[in-house]
Amino acid sequence: MSEKKGKLTTAFGSPVDDDQNSKTAGERGPVLMQDTHLMEKLAHFDRERIPERVVHAKGAGAHGYFEVLEDVSDYTRADFLSEVGKRTDVFARFSTVGGERGSADSARDPRGFALKFYTEEGNYDMVGNNTPVFFIRDPLKFPDFIHTQKRAPGTNLKDADMFWDFLSLTPESLHQVEILFSDRGTPATYRHMNGYSSHTYVWYNEKGEHFYVQYHFKTDQGIKNLTREEATRLAGENPDHATEDLYRAIESGDYPSWTLEVQVLTPEQAEDFTWDILDITKVWPHGEVPPRTVGRLVLNRNPENYFAEVEQAAFAPSNFVPGIAASADKMLQGRLFSYHDTHLHRLGPNYHLLPINRPKNAPENSYQRDGFMRLDSNGKDGPNYWPNSFGGPDPSPEVAEPQQKIMGMSGRHPYKFPNDDFVQPGNLYSKVMTDEDRDHLVGNIVDHLQDACKRIQKRQTALFYKANKEWGTRVAEGLGLHVPDIERLAAMSQEQREEATARGTEE
Ligand code: NDP
Repeated sequence: MSEKKGKLTTAFGSPVDDDQNSKTAGERGPVLMQDTHLMEKLAHFDRERIPERVVHAKGAGAHGYFEVLEDVSDYTRADFLSEVGKRTDVFARFSTVGGERGSADSARDPRGFALKFYTEEGNYDMVGNNTPVFFIRDPLKFPDFIHTQKRAPGTNLKDADMFWDFLSLTPESLHQVEILFSDRGTPATYRHMNGYSSHTYVWYNEKGEHFYVQYHFKTDQGIKNLTREEATRLAGENPDHATEDLYRAIESGDYPSWTLEVQVLTPEQAEDFTWDILDITKVWPHGEVPPRTVGRLVLNRNPENYFAEVEQAAFAPSNFVPGIAASADKMLQGRLFSYHDTHLHRLGPNYHLLPINRPKNAPENSYQRDGFMRLDSNGKDGPNYWPNSFGGPDPSPEVAEPQQKIMGMSGRHPYKFPNDDFVQPGNLYSKVMTDEDRDHLVGNIVDHLQDACKRIQKRQTALFYKANKEWGTRVAEGLGLHVPDIERLAAMSQEQREEATARGTEE
């Protein structure tokens, strides 16, 4: 039995005489309003839940550190990456995306891979996924996309029609759809998956030179995935299997680790690169941009309290440190707004003061004041404006990001980069996947897409066919579709295909 820890009190410190029997008028009588302990206890319980994250609601987290293994100071002036051997405290949170807080860890879904580095220059958040690409490349599409992956407004059920309707009308999603429906869409545990920045970020060095980078956190445990059958079984037998696995591994001293590799391009190389480096639906082929090692992430301490440390953890890609900045990737630009905004809604304007979110190795020194739940001394009696002549903190011009030229006509520009959205998915299917990977991919797609109506099945299968004929043919056969129909649809432009599959009365 654990040790007793003092006397029970109310939230305001007054001793409690009895925590089993409400105050009543007589033995069987109604409860009295003057039982203020009961009122306080119920009222707090009524407010225990904070808004669930709209995405990434179900997650698990752990503390650890990042250690620099190779010198990258030629590329970035970030202090936490400045010296081989330098260690920085980290908090990591892994998650599924679409499900609610109680949903199964084994769901077919991308996995969030969010890291908070408590650097000596403030917190740096790397909010990635276990996939190197994403479904869409414009943030204006994000709320619509997420709606289709969640529950239908009428039935409150997951809905294969809306899921595939949106994806088949958004061909840029194909690459991520492919990874999602491969066995990488159901990682065996959070320890056995990679993490990717997915976005392109900017690094800049002391000389003011810019570089484009993509991060790859490679699991040192090796990639392990579940088959569809294993994932379905686990969802029933132990919906928290990945949460439990992470906790038990760390508790037993089997600390998971990841090796950080980066791909780096100079602005000149990026200009001439085969692929649009600002398009999150594309990877940078390893053969063209070999990844180089930066350091190691190790997770070695479990949270002591899930709500305080994991549920209240708030990651935002807008948290940069000198030496790291945003690229013009449109999806990233949208996320720079949306994550911080979500936390303001979920946790309030002072969420940065919560212990898990505080920049503990570079304390805040700003002029932000007041707001709900201001739980520090609120700047005491110091000045709350700048400039001031009363000793308040001054900006540090020496940390300014070197200037970059940005020019262009304002407008809603449709995506025009000459690459198509089918080459990389085709390469993954034909050049990277094994026979077994391809069998599982086709089986996983057919199992899910069969629940959508025929016209949507055809429109989506034509996209698989465009990327690789064998892939499209096998999905068509699995769904009982007429392959020449699919071939015909695949040969059309997206507009013609949409028109040809816009209506239909088939099941
Ligand atoms: P490479 O052969 O150099 O790299 C292929 C990479 O694909 C591997 O390193 C591995 O990445 C990843 N991979 C292996 N099996 C699977 C799978 N079943 N599902 C998803 N990813 C897998 O080729 P390229 O760099 O030219 O890329 C070819 C294709 O591989 C791309 O079009 C893309 O679809 C996919 N890919 C590429 C990545 C990249 O950053 N270049 C990263 C991931 C996938 P890892 O080592 O990160 O596990």
